[in-house]
Amino acid sequence: MAGNWRKNVREIAPYVPGEQSKDADLIKLNANENPYPPSPKVQEVFRSFDAAALRRYPDANSTELRHTLAEHFGVGDNQVFLGNGSDDVLALCFQTFFCSDDPILFPDVTYSFYPVWCSLFRIPFRKVPLTADYRIDPQDYAVKNGGVILPNPNAPTGIGEGLEFVEVLLQNNPDSIVIIDEAYIDFGGTSCLPLLEKYENLVIVQTMSKSRSLAGMRVGYAIASPELIAALEAVKNSYNSYTMDMLTLDAATASVKDNAYFRETCARVIQTRERSAQTFREMGFTVLPSQTNFLLVTHPEKSAKELFEKLRAQKIFVRYFNQPRVDNHLRVTIGTDDEMDKLFEALRNIM
Ligand code: PMP
Repeated sequence: MAGNWRKNVREIAPYVPGEQSKDADLIKLNANENPYPPSPKVQEVFRSFDAAALRRYPDANSTELRHTLAEHFGVGDNQVFLGNGSDDVLALCFQTFFCSDDPILFPDVTYSFYPVWCSLFRIPFRKVPLTADYRIDPQDYAVKNGGVILPNPNAPTGIGEGLEFVEVLLQNNPDSIVIIDEAYIDFGGTSCLPLLEKYENLVIVQTMSKSRSLAGMRVGYAIASPELIAALEAVKNSYNSYTMDMLTLDAATASVKDNAYFRETCARVIQTRERSAQTFREMGFTVLPSQTNFLLVTHPEKSAKELFEKLRAQKIFVRYFNQPRVDNHLRVTIGTDDEMDKLFEALRNIM
């Protein structure tokens, strides 16, 4: 095998997603997907779509979806950048904004894709430990850096921080780009959207994979100052791999316009989460406070690996974590009430 090709790529430890399966009997609580279908308006788009339209190229500027999102968030059309899933948008943000010799900072633990992009794009990074109670202290980010990225709420802890937290982070980092990954924001978190007007170095990234039940379609976006969005556009145009397809544009637009359905399904997930957290506690688990559609749990006497494997044998998939700080933990995505009842029944039998 030829050795003269990118060493940093050969050494990357790839991100490992939750196990996939098409088994209809499966209770799949391992990828933070939404248990409810997308808005019925999305189905209508599919039903009425004429395949003849596909002979044309899609709108490379995503004009309608961009405008619909801008209206939804009360920002200008020139403050929204769209991509095929927020992973794509985040990867482009890393390439566009993180270029200093100083390390970028992100929490330890957090979304495990961040170090993968750093390796890929040769961005130095430093992981900043969480506090004893699994939180992020914004003062820990008041050191010279090449940028800051963190999810709020954080993953896989599920813990969300308030507006003041993000504001302190921004005040401590006037010269860096601060990216707040709001993948799980719609399940009770506080979006830092109101800070956009005041801080031109803030980039907010959101996804339609979780709260809008569109993981299968790949829609993500960044919201930021016109200057930073223009920078993303400039990099996108030179690569041209971020253009969204016609059906996705229409379906995502229909989803954003159906705010009532969106609010209702989010509220349902939150209600089930609170009930599930309570049940876990009654069963002796320690549960971190979550503002997401998942719970990170651990049992003082039980092996998370064993619980994970025994649940898996009963076709209930959850996520098992065994890394420092979250060793012996399970991350359980919130399913329907019925799915959660089945999970608890299985757990009771196992334990
Ligand atoms: N950020 C975080 C924190 C996530 O957990 C995920 C989903 N795994 C993503 C971003 C990416 O989501 P998507 O690409 O589906 O938009």
